Amino acid sequence: MPAFSLEPEQAAWCAELRSLAAERLRPLADKGEPGRVNRPLLAELGHLGLLARLFTSGALDLCLMRESLAQTCTEAETALALQGLGAHPVHAYGSTAQRERWLPRVADGGAVAAFALSEPGAGSDAAALALAAEPDGAAGWRLTGAKCWISNAPEADFYTVFARTTPGAGARGVTAFLVPADRPGLTGSALEMISPHPIGALDFDAVPVTADDVLGEVDRGFAVAMGTLNLFRPSVGAFAVGMAQAALDATLEHTRGRDAFGGKLMDLQAVAHQVAEMALRTEAARLMVYAAATAYDDGAPGVPGRAAMAKLLATETAQYVVDTAVQLHGARALRRGHLLEHLYREVRAPRIYEGASEVQRGIIARELYAMTREEAAR
Ligand SMILES: Cc1cc2nc3c(=O)[nH]c(=O)nc-3n(C[C@H](O)[C@H](O)[C@H](O)COP(=O)(O)OP(=O)(O)OC[C@H]3O[C@@H](n4cnc5c(N)ncnc54)[C@H](O)[C@@H]3O)c2cc1C
Repeated sequence: MPAFSLEPEQAAWCAELRSLAAERLRPLADKGEPGRVNRPLLAELGHLGLLARLFTSGALDLCLMRESLAQTCTEAETALALQGLGAHPVHAYGSTAQRERWLPRVADGGAVAAFALSEPGAGSDAAALALAAEPDGAAGWRLTGAKCWISNAPEADFYTVFARTTPGAGARGVTAFLVPADRPGLTGSALEMISPHPIGALDFDAVPVTADDVLGEVDRGFAVAMGTLNLFRPSVGAFAVGMAQAALDATLEHTRGRDAFGGKLMDLQAVAHQVAEMALRTEAARLMVYAAATAYDDGAPGVPGRAAMAKLLATETAQYVVDTAVQLHGARALRRGHLLEHLYREVRAPRIYEGASEVQRGIIARELYAMTREEAAR
């Protein structure tokens, strides 16, 4: 596929996803309770075969799904993405038994997944995580500590939990565990956030886990986390591009129809140029997301840096585009229930989660210096 345009079948699939989102998913999303997992919405995503696509698609297809759903129904988009984020470690690193037990239920929307990396004392610096996995005889480990800001917590049915198996070893002493929500000692509470999807905190009080619960290898869990984030980062960008496109579409419609100063808003050059700038930046971000996802699918070099660039550019762009759309709509955009009021709340968090913008710049710079060092050594 050329990195600068989609094949006709891909464009047709995106159009189909947008109409499915409008006709089948939007009505279910509207019936959901903000901050709670919407199980009927997840079941419909399963019924439509979209959750199963999480495990058969490459990074580009994931981006196309997220962008298309976000244009019409961010709630469906986020529900899909969180299933992917929580279950990808099981899909990519899990044992046959773990995969057989959980993945069919994730795919039909019956089991809710979550990815539990962040802690009160370890956000951007994830390698500083402290949730302790202490040896518990021959049986395995006991998990003790806390996680916070975990999407889908505390309602998820299982958690991919990153815990410290080797104290003092930084990123090299972390293990990923698949922890079902009904394990004794695991409790949680919901957190009320600006971001409309469910988010919570988890408390681990000597939660028992065994070798059967390990995802991948002991002390190699950080690679599980980073491998998952390399796949999902461009797709966070795609989510942002979908929101930016929705804001741009709404702005075109509004400025075309709104009477102002004896004409329409679009007749004011200051307005039309802002709309052009929104479109320009959205398209640039979209191309960078597609290019980063294609690089991931092709196994090209420099994936972490390209994923970081795509996430950074797209999320910052979407913030700009949604904010400009609010400005050009005037007061009506801030009325509760307006599309832009919703997007204004949705668009903020992606600049913080899965690596804040500053963290993405750090990744890009690190890769650049590593690459130039390699070239100099040749
Ligand atoms: C809506 C939402 C959903 C989330 N869902 C999940 C989830 O499902 N699972 C999960 O594990 N976590 C989740 N998180 C947590 C998220 O990953 C963290 O918030 C993020 O990693 C940042 O950590 P922090 O909030 O502790 O900020 P801190 O690490 O304290 O950073 C605060 C700020 O400091 C600056 N900063 C930090 N590091 C650097 C640096 N190296 N260079 C320059 N500046 C820097 C940045 O401006 C950053 O925003 C979610 C967060 C939100 C808001």
